[in-house]
Amino acid sequence: MPVPSISASLEDEKLSTFENYGRACLADFCEDWVVYRNLEPLDRRIPGIKNAFYAMELRSELIPRKQERDYAKAAVWFTNEIQRVRGQRVPVGELLFLGDTLFNDGQAYANMLDVSGWKGACFIGAERPEQETSTRIEEGNVTIANRWGMLADWIVALKEQGFKLDAGTMVIIDIDKTALGAKGRNDKVIDRARLAGIYRTMDAVLGSDFDQAVFEEHYNELNRARYHQLTADNQDYLAYICMVLNTRIMSLEELVSEVDSASMEDFEQFIRWVDSRLMINPSASIALREVHEAVIASVRNGDPTPFKRFRRQEFISTMEHMGNMPDSATVTELLENEITITEEVYQLAMWLKERGCAILCLSDKPDEASRPHARVSPDLVPLHRAVTHRVGTDIRPVLASI
Ligand SMILES: [Mg+2]
Repeated sequence: MPVPSISASLEDEKLSTFENYGRACLADFCEDWVVYRNLEPLDRRIPGIKNAFYAMELRSELIPRKQERDYAKAAVWFTNEIQRVRGQRVPVGELLFLGDTLFNDGQAYANMLDVSGWKGACFIGAERPEQETSTRIEEGNVTIANRWGMLADWIVALKEQGFKLDAGTMVIIDIDKTALGAKGRNDKVIDRARLAGIYRTMDAVLGSDFDQAVFEEHYNELNRARYHQLTADNQDYLAYICMVLNTRIMSLEELVSEVDSASMEDFEQFIRWVDSRLMINPSASIALREVHEAVIASVRNGDPTPFKRFRRQEFISTMEHMGNMPDSATVTELLENEITITEEVYQLAMWLKERGCAILCLSDKPDEASRPHARVSPDLVPLHRAVTHRVGTDIRPVLASI
């Protein structure tokens, strides 16, 4: 008889607390109040950064990243516009922010409070079953919790702190690894879907010359903080760099020595380098040249998502991981193979919506990885309307007692 290992029984214990609550979609609580990386709201009643950068008091229509102050200015502006479109006379006075990273979500929250002067609370969650249950409260009312189920305690505490949680409350929810694919519980499936998108793109561009093992090796090496000057921690840049290395028009060793000697300063310099290599390599494929030209054009326009082709494939592979498992699947099977909705986030968002709060999904995810493309994926629905299983713990008894 096999002896059960300690880690296996821990694994069982961890998963046994989660349940499958059936199928749903993010739009149940956020409707079309969704804003992705391009800062163009899906609900067209509100203009995006391209047309409203002046009203947002930004210097230009260049898209800021989530941790930048200009991003917070845009987010506060969207919040007030949503309140106007909702026909709410009560001005927004409270902000609740749910996310999974202190660096991005925590900073966006802190900057929004700074810009607006609102009262606020932020929850940064992750599932860390190997740790004792704990929360830490950081400056600015940021709660860092190691169980998503602690959202229940958090909202009880907010009530005690005098939060109204009503029509004057804006609730901002991050999507990746927060509302979908909970960090520490289900987030690996999101990463796997992205990688599948990368590999499909590489197959299409490089054909039978694509060497996946070498690609993975380069990707794991260059995905480290040591190379952030080159990659800017941008997944599009990284995928493009690894694709170029895969064609062997330059080697990893060559690139690393350029970075180490500080002669390769940033990604723009890398694409200029590729440009000169392509000129002396007439054998490089047309598909590669096409991708290269498209990436150059996007980078010059200040677009933070220049590798569109990869992101459109990422969208398709992400959608293939939404609601793909049968209803009879176990919770373990769901969490391993499907991008699920975080049940605690879902229950809390529905409860807050019921109380009249405005709910906005605000995500740094590229639009191209979140919405169908007219030619590439015309039959798919947008991500926030994709139906998938809800998995987690039940916090409704606590909510009902408030
Ligand atoms: Mg996230």
